[in-house]
Amino acid sequence: MTPGQSALKAVAGNNSTAAFDVERVRQDFPILRETVYGRPLVYLDNGASAQKPRIVIDSMTKAYETYYANVHRGVHKLSQTATDAFEAAREKVARFINAPSVDEVIFTRGATEAINLVAATYGRAFLKPGDEVVISHMEHHSNIVPWQLLRDEKGIVLKIAPIDDEGGFVLDAYEKLLSPKTKIVAITHVSNALGTITPMREIVRLAHARGARVLVDGCQAVPHMPVDVQALGADFYVFSSHKLYGPTGIGVLWGRLDLLNSMPPYQGGGEMIASVSFEKTTYKNSPHRFEAGTPAIVEAVGLGAAVDYVSALGLDNIGAHESGLLAYATERLSRIDGLEIHGRAKDKAAIVAFVMKEAHAHDIGTILDRAGVAVRAGHHCAQPVMDRFGVAATARASFGLYNTKKEVDTLVDAIGVVKEFFG
Ligand SMILES: *Cc1c(COP(=O)(O)O)cnc(C)c1O
Repeated sequence: MTPGQSALKAVAGNNSTAAFDVERVRQDFPILRETVYGRPLVYLDNGASAQKPRIVIDSMTKAYETYYANVHRGVHKLSQTATDAFEAAREKVARFINAPSVDEVIFTRGATEAINLVAATYGRAFLKPGDEVVISHMEHHSNIVPWQLLRDEKGIVLKIAPIDDEGGFVLDAYEKLLSPKTKIVAITHVSNALGTITPMREIVRLAHARGARVLVDGCQAVPHMPVDVQALGADFYVFSSHKLYGPTGIGVLWGRLDLLNSMPPYQGGGEMIASVSFEKTTYKNSPHRFEAGTPAIVEAVGLGAAVDYVSALGLDNIGAHESGLLAYATERLSRIDGLEIHGRAKDKAAIVAFVMKEAHAHDIGTILDRAGVAVRAGHHCAQPVMDRFGVAATARASFGLYNTKKEVDTLVDAIGVVKEFFG
């Protein structure tokens, strides 16, 4: 039985969460057998990057061992096979997010590059001085800095939609920021620092009512819930492979085809041209227009395998399993004296950020590490949200499909050690 089949079996014949057999799923991830400092690895840093199932690793090895060549160029057999595998991955991604057309799926280096691409092409070409871009107070730096670069270059205005004390998105305050001057709304689907799920359909509806385009940062959404870009109605949707159990070095920009084909190229080079002469070069349409140079071929294959893997498990099943972990972790952590959770929005993905009276986030992270528990400690590339809560850093446990309640217990026990050490 291949790892993919065992994942399938874990939920076979039943869509209820009871059928999600986490112990079976864990067997698909070789790294989960590792120990750190002699203790079983408890990996709770999925928000930074997720571990890879065997099927992803094997798909990439197989590509290198049996059909690797450059894509789109060769007439020879290997190049054709590699091209087919690369384009099959694009089709898998298109189905995964319910994109109307496979040509709307652009492979980038990651979510960061996808956002920079939109800012540098759509933003540069179509925004004028005084035009406004609305982001939120809980954006990742990758969804702040590209718009600041555009601001400094084009004289646009950046507006910040506020969040409340629970870390919730404040829809009516956001609506008040919108005006006919709003040209782009760029907002996260799920906050990496707080776990908040934003009311994206409403965000999109209100933006579109003013004629603005909407970019959704879906990095923390696609691993945890089904995403349908058509149902959301947004104009651009971005995410990274490595947080979706796929390889690093590749991510996705989805955009509406008419918009993409109206945008100038991002980088110039091979693959994106229709014809080149020294007088005039013409460009291909999406997606090739935005994929200059040799792409991340084998990484695309790995991403395709990751998409197959989570799809076989079912994003609803994964989400339900993680919701159980979130509820359990929140309940247990809330009972710890002197521990405060940041981010208590009603609608949350399985991310728990916290601070402790006794210890700094980095000290918490270091002591938890000694217990084999990997969490993130720091500002999580979201300094403005830290400022909003008046902290420099938090410790963050972010859960993935292979985590268990027993691992939450290990986390809680290790926090007990922190309290003993510093208390
Ligand atoms: C990780 C993350 C990013 C950046 O993704 P990269 O893979 O580093 O490009 C952007 N936004 C959110 C919400 C993230 O969690």
